[in-house]
Amino acid sequence: MSNARELAGGVAIVTGGSRGIGLAVSGSLARGGARIAIVARDAERAAGALDGLEGDGHAAYSCDVSDSRACKKTVAAVESGQGPVSILVNNAGITRDNILLRLRDDDWAQVIATNLGGSFNMVRAAARRMMKRRSGSIINITSVIGLMGNAGQANYAASKAGLHGLTKSVAKEFASRNIRCNAVAPGFIRTDMTADLDESVVDALKERIPLARLGEPDDVAGVVRFLAGPEARYITGQIITVDGGMVM
Ligand code: NAP
Repeated sequence: MSNARELAGGVAIVTGGSRGIGLAVSGSLARGGARIAIVARDAERAAGALDGLEGDGHAAYSCDVSDSRACKKTVAAVESGQGPVSILVNNAGITRDNILLRLRDDDWAQVIATNLGGSFNMVRAAARRMMKRRSGSIINITSVIGLMGNAGQANYAASKAGLHGLTKSVAKEFASRNIRCNAVAPGFIRTDMTADLDESVVDALKERIPLARLGEPDDVAGVVRFLAGPEARYITGQIITVDGGMVM
């Protein structure tokens, strides 16, 4: 990166920043100079994640992003404790996989409420404040599954495809206020979410990935950092896949 501390002075909320992709994003944005607000349900784990971050002024917040009032309160707490939010990364996400005929109401509702509803809740709470300052960068972590669909993941695919629609709508609605909104759609990345995949499934996946490996959280984090910062000032409403070339 040409400008090593390009995010200095900024505050970045990273939902789901306590592990996996979100933890790598938190680390990368902190190296860029931002103060990080990690938002997750498990407060202890979120607080523990702060120890590994470079720099000062980071904080952790316990919040379930599917709860709109909790999101509003959390954004207010971040602003009073750490300063104006300049970057929002909506990364918190869950899976509840099953073939469609076996998906329970709750499997559908929880995945939509967390992945799609949670991002909406956080955007609404943060964008109101960014608007007044006429500046902000919002990055939604989606998935290639939102582009391709996947048997056994109708709920997850619908939530991520919905996020693509949210991303483009937010980009259009807030562009005149200098707020950018983009999506990063990872392929298969090594985290807790993919830890249970059989080696045979991983081998089959690799055959579909031109770069012939699963991704690492840092592969995604670098792209998020770029989109968050000044080098991406003319980019909005885009979906950037980070998938080793699987979807092209
Ligand atoms: P992960 O390791 O399972 O971590 C999920 C994070 O989200 C945790 O910090 C978790 O913390 C938080 N979280 C979950 N539900 C939440 C809620 N209701 N409110 C607040 N925080 C919540 O997941 P990951 O693999 O890093 O995935 C991160 C994002 O990338 C997700 O949106 C996922 O869909 C997407 N993605 C992942 C892959 C992949 O291959 N891993 C591929 C494409 C897209 P708590 O449990 O403490 O709340």
